[in-house]
Amino acid sequence: MTFTHRHLLGIEHLRQDEITTLLDLAEDYVTLNRATQKHGDALAGLTQVNMFFENSTRTQASFELAGKRLGADVMNMAMQASSITKGETLIDTAMTLNAMHPDLLVVRHPHSGAVDLLAQKVNCAVLNAGDGRHEHPTQALLDALTIRRAKGRLHRLSIAICGDIAHSRVARSNIILLGKMENRIRLIAPPTLMPAGIGEFGVEVYDDMAEGLKDVDVVMMLRLQRERMDGGFIPSSREYYHRYGLDAAKLAHAKPDAIVMHPGPMNRGVEIDGTLADDINRSVIQDQVEMGVAVRMAAMDLLARNQRALQGGVA
Ligand code: ASP
Repeated sequence: MTFTHRHLLGIEHLRQDEITTLLDLAEDYVTLNRATQKHGDALAGLTQVNMFFENSTRTQASFELAGKRLGADVMNMAMQASSITKGETLIDTAMTLNAMHPDLLVVRHPHSGAVDLLAQKVNCAVLNAGDGRHEHPTQALLDALTIRRAKGRLHRLSIAICGDIAHSRVARSNIILLGKMENRIRLIAPPTLMPAGIGEFGVEVYDDMAEGLKDVDVVMMLRLQRERMDGGFIPSSREYYHRYGLDAAKLAHAKPDAIVMHPGPMNRGVEIDGTLADDINRSVIQDQVEMGVAVRMAAMDLLARNQRALQGGVA
């Protein structure tokens, strides 16, 4: 098995063959999740703790379901109501939890790098469920699985990532993953939402949707991350939708069989037209959610195997 990591902190640390190993295992879990009897035992006896310091709907639910389907005892910590609000540091909270011997810690945090820091302090496997604008590895992996299933491959595709690139961890993890798998990546955003120096990542940069979407295979839309903006980055939502919102007219510049993606939560009428988002002939947004559970099952399964191997058990 080629996946030797102790933690899943970012796509940055994964090799191409490790990404493929994880996606192949996730395929098995797609099948299991579609069966009537959905239980596996890869995490039986293990304790999974979800610590979300930032709001989440689908990611937290997806990790919870993934753990339960594989037999883990899953605990969700209500971080807003936790000791953090009483002044405890992130590290003290982590050390307290560590003393209870969890096996898998799933962490989302508003600060870039906070999850890496935490991983250095605990004994268990840590999975990054999104840290600031840094990385969101399981999102990029579920996007990759969705693309691979829809297009039959995950290389030599032309993929446009559109919208608030500057504040998006989803964009960052996807740029790294899709680049490692040898795809052509186009970023489309207003100049205010395009990070400086992004060209160094080997991507093509556009500020016009018609030009950027020309003949692409995949269109990935992003939400405006208003919670990470400290000023006015766009004139108005209406103006933004007019220039950068994906509708049928703009999508017509892409290949006729191009798929439409969005990590959610989506703002209809801001970054995407509601009818297009619901069009099952073009939109794979619901598939992304389905793949999310399978990818998280695969990620936790692989990390648990590595942990057992480290402890001298059966790998
Ligand atoms: N759910 C994704 C994230 O946590 C995307 C978003 O919030 O816009 O980054």
